[in-house]
Amino acid sequence: MELRTKMPGVGTTIFTVMSQLATEHNAINLGQGFPDFDPDPALLDEVNKAMREGHNQYPPMPGIPLLREGIQKKVEDLYGHRYDPNTEITVMAGASEALMMSILALVHPGDEVVVIEPFYDLYNPVIALAGGTPVIVPMLAPDENHPTHRVDWQRVRDAINSRTRALILNFPHNPTGINLEEKDLDALEHIVEQTGIYLISDEVYEHVVFDGGQHQSLCRRPSLAEKSVVISSFGKTYHITGWKIGYCCAPAPITAEIRKLHQFNVFTVVSPMQFALARYMADPQHHLLLSSFYQKKRDHLFEGLARTRFKPVKSAGTFFLLADYSGISDMPEAEFSKWLTTEHGVGVIPVSAFYRDPASKEANHHLVRFCFAKRETTLDTAIERLQRL
Ligand code: PMP
Ligand code: GLN
Repeated sequence: MELRTKMPGVGTTIFTVMSQLATEHNAINLGQGFPDFDPDPALLDEVNKAMREGHNQYPPMPGIPLLREGIQKKVEDLYGHRYDPNTEITVMAGASEALMMSILALVHPGDEVVVIEPFYDLYNPVIALAGGTPVIVPMLAPDENHPTHRVDWQRVRDAINSRTRALILNFPHNPTGINLEEKDLDALEHIVEQTGIYLISDEVYEHVVFDGGQHQSLCRRPSLAEKSVVISSFGKTYHITGWKIGYCCAPAPITAEIRKLHQFNVFTVVSPMQFALARYMADPQHHLLLSSFYQKKRDHLFEGLARTRFKPVKSAGTFFLLADYSGISDMPEAEFSKWLTTEHGVGVIPVSAFYRDPASKEANHHLVRFCFAKRETTLDTAIERLQRL
């Protein structure tokens, strides 16, 4: 019997590939997005306590009530939308599971799904697995007059037709670090009003927004909340990417469909961590202080890179900033990233990896992505190495 792939053209993710390369060459890994420091010991104590209290068997399928109630309160306090924890909030095995279940629940064979490029690598293969077709809308690339990427909502609107089921959004945006503003929500309201499509909103960096900006969750607007699955991840917020816990919020009929898939995928999510997170998140300072915590790291890396031949771009959110290397090399981004990792001991991610055709001219703007979710000493050692370039 011939083995036939369900994911043609898909290899191992760029994050794994570049982390392996960094490990093999003893490079400082500023590629894959994860902190190199530990979470708050108080959170670890809560896990231990939960285990000793006997929270070691299957929790309820959609997540423990205490955690769903905590999510409900946080979302309402921050964005003013009240999701029903019983029917509209589901605890998931990371944002990854939430994204996959949402796409599989909403997208049917023959549907089109609009995806904005550059994009996180999970979306398109899963859309195809559901029998759908990704329709790619490129962002406007940075130029002399615009230092950052931008979304042209008219282009997004033009990509939508009667076959379009959904639009995938990810702000604060990985990898560009750009954010939505109020006027972007206006544009999205217009699009939804005209087309009735669903929105799948990957908001994993919701608590990492810089320079006094506000995160524009889609659930801030009732007309958007009605059509959206809003997804987040505890991994990014509490420095626990390895725990793989996240959640999704969506109107009850959509949530019911997502839960049908979730129950047969993992059924439920690791019990003691749910209890620990429910108790820990009751103190809003833990997420409210995150932006200033990461802004210091962004500035530290930005200032360090400004002393090298890279030209860094200030991100408005996320764990990442982009830097232009045209003052150093003419290599395509993938080649440059490998060279930097193997020859100069600093691992990065080529931005071209977030494009449909990474080898194309359209995907290559001499930009690499640096992750600054690292200790200051890690960033300093990397900067020192980069200064020698
Ligand atoms: N979406 C984006 C944009 C991400 O950057 C990541 C992970 N870094 C995820 C989803 C997946 O999050 P999780 O680890 O919670 O599955
Ligand atoms: N989202 C992380 C990044 O962009 C990586 C997560 C993963 O490796 N799957 O670096």
